[in-house]
Amino acid sequence: MATNYNLALAVYRHSLTTPDAVAVVSRGQSLTYGEIAARAASLADGLRRSRAWQCRERSPLRVGILASRGIDACVALLAACWAGAAYVPIGLKLPEERTLTLLSLCDLSAIIADEDGARLLTERLLDACPPIVIHASRTPLSARDDAVEVLSMASLPPVTVVEPTLMAAHETAYIIFTSGTTGVPKGVVISSGAARHYAAMIAERLGLRSSDRALETCELGFDFSVHNMFSTWEVGAALHILPATTVMNAVKFARTSELTVWNSVPSLAGMLRQVNALKAGSLAGLRITVFGGEQLPEATVTAWQSAAPNSVIVNLYGPTEATVFCLAQTIGQPLPVTPGRGVLAIGTPLPGSAAKVVDEDGVELADGTAGELAIAGVQLADGYLGAADLTASRFPVIDGQRWYLSGDVATRDAAGNFHCFGRIDNQVKVLGYRVELEEIDAHLRLVSHVDVVGSVAWPLVDGMARGIVCFVGVPTIDADRLISDLKARLPAYMVPNRLIALAEMPLNHSGKVDRRALHRLLDTDAA
Ligand code: AMP
Repeated sequence: MATNYNLALAVYRHSLTTPDAVAVVSRGQSLTYGEIAARAASLADGLRRSRAWQCRERSPLRVGILASRGIDACVALLAACWAGAAYVPIGLKLPEERTLTLLSLCDLSAIIADEDGARLLTERLLDACPPIVIHASRTPLSARDDAVEVLSMASLPPVTVVEPTLMAAHETAYIIFTSGTTGVPKGVVISSGAARHYAAMIAERLGLRSSDRALETCELGFDFSVHNMFSTWEVGAALHILPATTVMNAVKFARTSELTVWNSVPSLAGMLRQVNALKAGSLAGLRITVFGGEQLPEATVTAWQSAAPNSVIVNLYGPTEATVFCLAQTIGQPLPVTPGRGVLAIGTPLPGSAAKVVDEDGVELADGTAGELAIAGVQLADGYLGAADLTASRFPVIDGQRWYLSGDVATRDAAGNFHCFGRIDNQVKVLGYRVELEEIDAHLRLVSHVDVVGSVAWPLVDGMARGIVCFVGVPTIDADRLISDLKARLPAYMVPNRLIALAEMPLNHSGKVDRRALHRLLDTDAA
């Protein structure tokens, strides 16, 4: 019998074996595995029965998810999987033009919107929508065009839960859009084989258990959410979704929800440390902490170890193009730091993945030499949606194997551990000198004792940077002292001309420091 790679399969299996176990909790509501399977199967049935789905000749099937993190979002994406379609998260905070661009790029078969998402469905957007829209709005919605069938989730009848549609390993599980340097978003296409491999592999590597209660802090458009949902559901555990409005109360949330597994970007921990929320022993209930998605500062780890003394900490590294995370470093003693950077090593490839450091010609470099990190293995994306040339250039075949060129500067040390220094595109020329902005960040963290910082090359004159401006994520700073401390550590051309205290650091949709927004702040200020 053919193997079913449907991403919803684990949820289906737990709905048969442990139907009363909690699958997801959000804003005081929860669904058991039995309930979430019933809701997803009913929604999937609604998709399949719709006029447009039945007469659709073209494949593949893709369902856009217009929802903020919460129970409806989980049900919606599971329903898309159940019906044999790929799910495509569409952010709620995008300007309408960008949403229209996404809709035109991804040729959706349907859209499922939660209540927040449905509010965005203006007549203009509905005109651009695929032929089926299923929504959770309490107020009726209708499209001007009869060709668009608009159904309310509440109107869908219960159905007998059957196994999610058989999906082959090569069929698409999800498409996540990341920002493209050209300004056009890039849709990263991840196969069901890659996604299922990731969920099973990482649940085993972390030693997750059905009794775990795991944290969700991400929106669907950030692929860390794939880790959070599907590693938790792989083992039949419960996912606790932190509402976007209570992020700074994450420690309290973890305590009241009795969380055992923490998943977040390090910036969240850094912000909690800054507001003194990380008291010694305050997260004693945690047994596993997953940090991933950006550099993990040493100071964050030290504070975390005291707040969560019973937790193993794992630093996970990976680009969306390699299905969430593909390298891992378990944090032991002494801390596996990246020399001179104050951040933690990214470790070694996870089962099924391979990594090497290459030069501009794709030739592997010796240990200790910095180059671009290349990744291979079962988790590699199929490529970028509708962008064959870009796919071919970022996923070259080297010596008969397909690799993804990550755009990260890295080295491998003599013990075989990889270290990530930051993005190649954060490598700037300041007055002719090559500077890595992450390196300045690292020193600034040390002298300011603030984890959330961001450096930018500014002003740019004819594309060349004249200097550096650094932002520190606190309300006030002693700029003169910090600059003199930095002068003691950095060559003159790397010392910022200006330091700015910014109580609310702009973060991108993944919760990482948004350097573009920092640039905009400076441009507006100068204008
Ligand atoms: P995204 O595709 O949005 O998940 O971003 C992937 C990028 O985030 C990588 O290419 C790295 O630059 C960065 N990144 C992810 N995880 C880590 C990590 N553990 N340490 C350092 N950088 C990371």
